[in-house]
Amino acid sequence: MDLREFAEAIGDSGPVTVTGAGTRGGPVREATVVRAPAGIEWLQPEEMTVCCGAATPVDELAAALAEHGQRVALPSGGTVGGALAMGRSGTWRLGWGPTRDALLQARYVSASGDEVKAGGPTVKNVSGFDLCRLLVGSRGTLGFIGEVILRTWPMARHSQWFSTATIEPDELLARLHRPTSLLWDGTTAWGLLEGHPDDVAAAAAAAGLVPADGPPELPTAGRWSIRPAQVRSLTGRFVAEVGVGVVHHSEPAPARDVAPAVRELTRRIKHNFDPAGRLNPGVDVLDAG
Ligand SMILES: Cc1cc2nc3c(=O)[nH]c(=O)nc-3n(C[C@H](O)[C@H](O)[C@H](O)COP(=O)(O)OP(=O)(O)OC[C@H]3O[C@@H](n4cnc5c(N)ncnc54)[C@H](O)[C@@H]3O)c2cc1C
Repeated sequence: MDLREFAEAIGDSGPVTVTGAGTRGGPVREATVVRAPAGIEWLQPEEMTVCCGAATPVDELAAALAEHGQRVALPSGGTVGGALAMGRSGTWRLGWGPTRDALLQARYVSASGDEVKAGGPTVKNVSGFDLCRLLVGSRGTLGFIGEVILRTWPMARHSQWFSTATIEPDELLARLHRPTSLLWDGTTAWGLLEGHPDDVAAAAAAAGLVPADGPPELPTAGRWSIRPAQVRSLTGRFVAEVGVGVVHHSEPAPARDVAPAVRELTRRIKHNFDPAGRLNPGVDVLDAG
């Protein structure tokens, strides 16, 4: 994929911001707005990889992969670049892995307007400094992603939600082998199991689960990050992702207590990548929102 036009639009001076589908990032004031290229470049189901422009909608990519019985671990609704820049995982993180593991290679445009390649096209090709993982969750403050190679996974033959109101979530996590998702609202636990239908039914029965209509509705006001031990002291309406540390809460997340050393490290990384602070000015990667 030719990134020259994208790199030219970004240039090498002045404030600039990149937008995907706009589900998360508001426009950064007084900055030139650019968009990454869109579209699937190639799809290699046998290698379990796909290459696409960063502005490709995740849902479009998911539909193309589904035709080959595959899927990608990115949250739906926005673009591939936006999902990677935000770095949020879906409630399937327990089974499918975090969003950051989906990115094998990124071609991005740096603050000096240069095209940079990070990572490699194969799963094994991870050596040296792992720039891809740094880009994921960096909210477009270190570089603007133009094209990516993503790792794909086979779609499960069968997916089914189960629930229980009598088994403690920690006990359930111990009883189940790699559930795709395990949610708990303080009273009821829900588990998403995937695999061969017979295996799914057997695993659910062995763990003491009964079939459920689906997952509970997730409160959307706050997405809290907590230590597993803190889940017991939660109040209000919430749904916790057991084994992950994420809680969907009816209240906004409390202000994050970021250690000064972490703030300083974050500032230095940003300065090294973007000395003039021109990429997504004003965006704070440590902001919990
Ligand atoms: C309705 C809805 C609401 C959501 N709300 C939230 C929420 O509150 N918080 C949250 O974390 N997630 C939220 N998500 C989840 C989701 O992870 C992201 O918001 C979404 O994937 C971002 O994709 P986008 O294309 O809309 O990105 P945008 O909203 O367009 O951009 C998000 C951020 O990513 C940067 N970015 C976009 N493209 C690139 C690129 N190519 N290279 C580098 N940086 C880039 C932008 O500059 C911006 O800072 C929401 C999703 C939906 C559908």
